[in-house]
Amino acid sequence: MKICESCSFPMNKIEDFGGKNFDSKYCKYCAPDGKLRSKQDVRNGWIKVTMMKEKLSEEEAAKKVDEKMKKMPAWKK
Ligand SMILES: [Zn+2]
Repeated sequence: MKICESCSFPMNKIEDFGGKNFDSKYCKYCAPDGKLRSKQDVRNGWIKVTMMKEKLSEEEAAKKVDEKMKKMPAWKK
């Protein structure tokens, strides 16, 4: 199993991979057409998902996402 280097989404099926390409390092959400979206776009989408999944306020979700994002290979500097 591969994990998206941008958001840690687990990628199993070909549809999960960005651009439906098994060689892609990123998932369908972070790279719908195979090219990684901007950090801002990925962050916004991730915050929305976290709010829904964990029933958090936007502020709480943003804090969590920022913390996780720092550790992702695609975003850490
Ligand atoms: Zn991703």
